Amino acid sequence: MRISLIDGSFIIAGLLFILALAGLSKHETSRRGNILGAIGMALALVFTILGTVLGTYDLVESSPGQPVLELIKAAAPSWAIVAIVVAMALGAAIGFFRALRVEMTGMPELIALFHSFVGLAAVLVGWTAYYSSVASGHFDPLHSGELFVGVFIGAVTFTGSIIAYLKLAAKIKSAPLTLPHHNLINLAALAAFVALTVVFVLNPEGTLGFILLSAMTVIALFLGLHLVASIGGGDMPVVVSMLNSYSGWAAAAAGFTLDNDLLIITGALVGSSGAYLSFIMCKAMNRSFISVIAGGFGSDGTVVGEEKDYGEHREITAAEAADLLVNASSVVITPGYGMAVAQAQSAVADMTSKLRAKGVNVRFGIHPVAGRLPGHMNVLLAEAKVPYDIVLEMDEINDDLQDTDVVLVIGANDTVNPAANEDPHSPIAGMPVLEVWKASQVIVFKRSMATGYAGVQNPLFFKENAAMLFGDAKERVEDIIHSF
Ligand code: NDP
Repeated sequence: MRISLIDGSFIIAGLLFILALAGLSKHETSRRGNILGAIGMALALVFTILGTVLGTYDLVESSPGQPVLELIKAAAPSWAIVAIVVAMALGAAIGFFRALRVEMTGMPELIALFHSFVGLAAVLVGWTAYYSSVASGHFDPLHSGELFVGVFIGAVTFTGSIIAYLKLAAKIKSAPLTLPHHNLINLAALAAFVALTVVFVLNPEGTLGFILLSAMTVIALFLGLHLVASIGGGDMPVVVSMLNSYSGWAAAAAGFTLDNDLLIITGALVGSSGAYLSFIMCKAMNRSFISVIAGGFGSDGTVVGEEKDYGEHREITAAEAADLLVNASSVVITPGYGMAVAQAQSAVADMTSKLRAKGVNVRFGIHPVAGRLPGHMNVLLAEAKVPYDIVLEMDEINDDLQDTDVVLVIGANDTVNPAANEDPHSPIAGMPVLEVWKASQVIVFKRSMATGYAGVQNPLFFKENAAMLFGDAKERVEDIIHSF
């Protein structure tokens, strides 16, 4: 009875996770997808604990009709259960308060930090499995291989995610670390991992097994650190989705080690959806996945294009911008990271509905890597209740920009930078961007002439049809609303 109840709940949880992913792929169904995922996770947690509790007391053979609660009662109290409950309560409390306090702009680094925990968990599970094999004196080759691979993926994810966290939180420079022969270093680390795996599967016991596992753990920790440190600022979106994928594979590997089907299913779902997201990100940035992984390009931290003389920029006031907007028949808003920093989404939504009420056709153009998180802008606009049907992807809006009267660039920079099209030497060369300069008039909301995340100067700001509206984006949008 116990087996079927727990296995059945795992199947339902797995199905709920699949439905959650399907729901999250569209604005309209994302809320439902989130709820289904949360229910699946609650189910998974409850039945995993139940399985552990019952397993601890070996009550597998209990009579089929015995209610589950009675079994738990019979099992309690136990130090193992107390330890699990205390650890879970502590973890849940830290996660709960951290998530409550985090600003929307801090989400990307928080997610990177969470990925690092998954990696660390996979390393600990692998090492624990190794020690229990040492204690029992029984090493199964398949199991040895699983735990070795699991520790490797976990360790790469752990240090890679920590570096990504530090870069996204601007605690270290986002400039790429370019050690001499850095691609060779990565290849050598991978080759060493393959060789060590073969030797470990053949000789898992004794001091040699311990040395092999320790050496591989150190190599994997270094590889994760080096892989992410070598990637430049502009390519971080791919790194974030790639680490998301790694964390899934790390969880799946832990699932194999622990013989937990649900963890394998969940890990594989996260791993494959993260890999697909990385593919989408690479396509959006016109990058080859391999060259990003190898840390081939990105800004070196210097401001590219700064020394070029682009001419003078022009400024505009909020009242003048309001005048242009009410007299326009079509307006496109392209938000970026600055909208998230300013928390300007509600003011932008308010301005949008006021303009629509005046008969202006207002639409949004979203670049796939705008902000600091895949889907960052969509989440903010949905939160501010901007109608989904006027929020278009870059590919859907780019052709219409030449027939647009006014484009409002709200806190976006790299994603509207014409250098990507015009300057083959730019670090963002080849990345598709929102071609806002093709509109009759562009108004750029930002606080200064500073560069965006990739550290590249933006020639858009100096174009004849562009005007800068300096200041905090939320305040300036509110000024415009007051001027209507
Ligand atoms: P950028 O990061 O290029 O630029 C944001 C701009 O917002 C800055 O130029 C800044 O200028 C302005 N800004 C900041 N705060 C405010 C404020 N309070 N009010 C008004 N303006 C403000 O943004 P994009 O969204 O265009 O590009 C995203 C970048 O982030 C890309 O390079 C992408 O590769 C990278 N990235 C994306 C990830 C993703 O998954 N989406 C993940 C990691 C990196 P100023 O300081 O002068 O105000």
